[in-house]
Amino acid sequence: MPSVDSAGLDVSGLAFAYDGALAVRDVSLRVEPGEIVALLGANGAGKSTTVRMIAGVLRPQRGAIRFGGQALTGAPSHFVVRRGITLVPEGRLVFPQMTVMENLQLGAHIKERGKIAGLIDYAFGLFPRLAERRSQLAGSMSGGEQQMLAIARGLMAEPRLIILDEPSLGLMPIVTQEVFRLVEAVNKTGIGVLLVEQNLHQSLRIAHRGYVLEKGAVVLAGTGKELLADSYVQRAFLGR
Ligand code: ATP
Repeated sequence: MPSVDSAGLDVSGLAFAYDGALAVRDVSLRVEPGEIVALLGANGAGKSTTVRMIAGVLRPQRGAIRFGGQALTGAPSHFVVRRGITLVPEGRLVFPQMTVMENLQLGAHIKERGKIAGLIDYAFGLFPRLAERRSQLAGSMSGGEQQMLAIARGLMAEPRLIILDEPSLGLMPIVTQEVFRLVEAVNKTGIGVLLVEQNLHQSLRIAHRGYVLEKGAVVLAGTGKELLADSYVQRAFLGR
C-alpha cells in the first residue's frame, strides 16, 4: 500500500451517483508529484465525474481524497485550488468576449497583485502563440488556441497538479499533437498532470502511467507502454 502521507494525489474508493444513477462506483488512483497520469475510458465511463470530485466540484458519496498528505475529501473547489489542484474542465470554457490577457488576469485573480504580471509572463513563455495574441478576443481564436488559453488560465493558480478534462476534444489530429506537446512542456516545469482522455494512443505516449475506467470503476492500470500493449486495451479501444 502506498503511504497516505506521500506528497502526491491519493484517491481511494470514490463513488458518486447522480439522482440515484451510479456514475462512479469504485475509483482509486494515484498521481505522484511531477507525473503525467492518463485517465482513460469510453464515453460515460465516469472520468469527468471522478475529476469533478477531486477538484471539489462534486462531493464524493464514498471514498477519500488526499493531496500532499492532507485530506481533501468533500472540500469545496476554492479550497482545493488553494491546496494546489486546478481543473481545466471539458469544453475550453474561456470567456469569448474577453481578450487573452483579460482571461489570464481573471484566472490569476486569487493571487496578490504584484505576482500577476510574472505569472502571465511565465504562461506566455510556455505558450508563445498566446503572447502574440494577447489583445485578441478569445472567442475569435481557433479551438487549439482556446484550449491553450484554458490551460494557461489554469496555470495562473500555480497548481502543483493540473487536471485536464479531454483537452483534445474536437481538435484536429495535428492540433491535438501540439496541445499534447504543450502538456509535456507544462509537466517539464514540475507540475503533475492528470489527463482525462478518449484519445488513448496519444495520451499514453506522453503519460508515465494510466488507468482505464469502465462503468465507473478502474479495470486496468499500468505504465503507458504496458497499457498500449495490453490485449484488453487493444480490443476495447484500438479495435484490434
Ligand atoms: P464523457 O467522455 O462522455 O465525458 P465520462 O467518462 O467523463 O464521459 P461522466 O461524464 O463522468 O463520464 O459520466 C458518467 C455517467 O454519469 C454517465 O452515465 C453520464 O450520463 C452520467 N452523468 C454525467 N453527468 C451527469 C449529470 N450532471 N446528471 C446526471 N447524470 C450525469
